[in-house]
Amino acid sequence: MIKIKNLKKSYGKLEVLKGIDTKIKEGEVISIIGPSGSGKSTFLRCINRLEEPTSGQIFIHGTDVLGKKVNINKIRENVGMVFQHFNLYPHKTVLENITLGPIKLKKISKTEAGKKAVELLKKVGLEDKRDVYPNKLSGGQKQRVAIARALAMDPKIMLFDEPTSALDPEMIGEVLKVMKELAQAGMTMIVVTHEMGFARNVANRVFFMDDGYILEDDLPKEIFDNPKNERTKEFLKKVL
Ligand code: ADP
Ligand code: MG
Repeated sequence: MIKIKNLKKSYGKLEVLKGIDTKIKEGEVISIIGPSGSGKSTFLRCINRLEEPTSGQIFIHGTDVLGKKVNINKIRENVGMVFQHFNLYPHKTVLENITLGPIKLKKISKTEAGKKAVELLKKVGLEDKRDVYPNKLSGGQKQRVAIARALAMDPKIMLFDEPTSALDPEMIGEVLKVMKELAQAGMTMIVVTHEMGFARNVANRVFFMDDGYILEDDLPKEIFDNPKNERTKEFLKKVL
């Protein structure tokens, strides 16, 4: 479903991604772990071209994402993204936050988009919040709205960049629960996370990233119980 070949990204003289190669199958749930500054966010952002890679190739369903003729909006419809800081529109209600994309980009009627949004709000446990503004929500609720908003576009792939890192501890569980349900429903997901429980128990593959490379790519059990790379061992010693 996703094929990445020798992906590199530099910001000026700083080379952040130094050659990423990987293939991801439909329905896989990948957790990316690794130290701060290792390029995890940059990697995710290259996949839907929020960042322009310096070189390399990315194919999604056989479409060359970096091709000149590619419709980048179409790709972003298929690749949903959830950020650490939610990025909800503050001046729009919860329902409007969710329906805006489908109405504007997918040309779906307001009624239709509204119906779907209510279904998604049920899914994330927030049906009673449809008419409130984001500043009336807790962090965990905001993040669940952000997930519903991404899902409203019917993405084939969901990218999560530290979705629980900005949350108070008591709210992390409610967001992870929604993500776990999504994983179990078969969504293809790439999740950058410090939640080692999620990486171990929900993901079916873990990437350890360090210094611009995927240094280790294995089953969660192998990464956590039997890491092969010295850097992985060192990192896990610090976080576990
Ligand atoms: P991670 O998500 O693993 O913490 P990032 O991908 O955010 O790492 O960042 C990797 C490196 O790239 C860091 O040194 C960071 O400072 C740098 N970086 C990230 N975004 C930019 C940018 N827009 N401009 C310049 N440097 C950046
Ligand atoms: Mg990051």
